[in-house]
Amino acid sequence: MADAVTTPPVPSRTGRADVAARAAPSADELRRTAHALDHRFRDDLAHLVGIDSGSHDAEGVERVAAWAAAALVGDGFDVETLPTPLRDGRRYGPVVIGRRRGSGASRVVLFAHMDTVFPVGTAAERPFRVEGDRAYGPGVCDDGAGIAAGLSAARVLDAVGYDGYGELVLVLTPDEEVGSPASRELLADAARGADAALCLECARENGDLVGARKGVADVLVSIHGRAAHSGVEPERGINAAVEAARFLLDVQSLSGSRPGLTVNVGRVASGSRPNIVPESAELHLEVRADGLAELVGALDAIDERARHPFVDGARIGVTRLDVCPPLERDATDRLAAIARRTGARLGLGFEVAATGGASDANFVAALGVPTLDGLGPVGGGDHGVDEWLDLAGAPDRVALLAGLVVAIAEGESVR
Ligand SMILES: [Zn+2]
Repeated sequence: MADAVTTPPVPSRTGRADVAARAAPSADELRRTAHALDHRFRDDLAHLVGIDSGSHDAEGVERVAAWAAAALVGDGFDVETLPTPLRDGRRYGPVVIGRRRGSGASRVVLFAHMDTVFPVGTAAERPFRVEGDRAYGPGVCDDGAGIAAGLSAARVLDAVGYDGYGELVLVLTPDEEVGSPASRELLADAARGADAALCLECARENGDLVGARKGVADVLVSIHGRAAHSGVEPERGINAAVEAARFLLDVQSLSGSRPGLTVNVGRVASGSRPNIVPESAELHLEVRADGLAELVGALDAIDERARHPFVDGARIGVTRLDVCPPLERDATDRLAAIARRTGARLGLGFEVAATGGASDANFVAALGVPTLDGLGPVGGGDHGVDEWLDLAGAPDRVALLAGLVVAIAEGESVR
């Protein structure tokens, strides 16, 4: 006999445990339905991969948005397509938000991104193709399959007649690959106060979900010295390049001083000619850390170093260009446990891993919403020509996603 996705009776916050327990589909039912509807997943995926939608190709992302909005309407969602503001003079595609009301109380937010890292023309150059159990093409894993899985999970719930959630929300963003400059507030507005948020970046190659992502800060350091003739009066110069060199070594050595902390000075620029003492220098660096406290601590240490120049007379300015908070493990623990239990009922074994890379899950988790990532199907090779998606395993992952929505709606505690 198939286990129910949840373990009844679970008293839900709505006090409808008796009704809900009868209404909750079994794991087996979800899986069978996901397999029966798998052709829709494949069609959606092929369609998405066929549309160029680089982050800075607003028209391409708009085409994905229009297609997704129509698909959501077809699946019983109320849909809003919200334009995004210009960022640094650049135009981005819209945010699509689909909402489907249910009979319960929990609000569950699924989110995926419509943009890819690929330039216009890639979809024609490397069209969607299937070889064996795998699909290939630009964005097939990151994040076409995430969008298709979100649509499919909603379809599966509909097909089994389950609507025990209060509201099922699917948010599609246009600019994740460049750090979501234009959409992060709209995503936050849609996710704020949700009972749980499930990020549809794909699962890792080995099937693991993602329960922790480092926070990232993007920092520009500007060093001001004084130019002087290197032969005639070098003593009148204030060498910004020397300061930059010392500064680089000092901040880079913060790496490892706190849990998961890395500092990488990725760009160094200074000077113009060998006979001039360099007047200015610039360091562009990135800080990553497991926890917000560690990230902020490192940023403070960089500010502190800037107040104490090594070269007499040098002035150092530090600008935090962007700070993306971490997805911290303790914020995802309970959701991860629910995912493991749901996965076990579907016969899926996986771990919940940590990674150094950030995603939109970081912004949502920072709102205090329990957030889990990696709930798209299994794939790999992101951002490369060999990007792939495991088609054979996709229906089970869609069933996992649908099962998680059921578990949360039925009152498994996520906080
Ligand atoms: Zn992605």
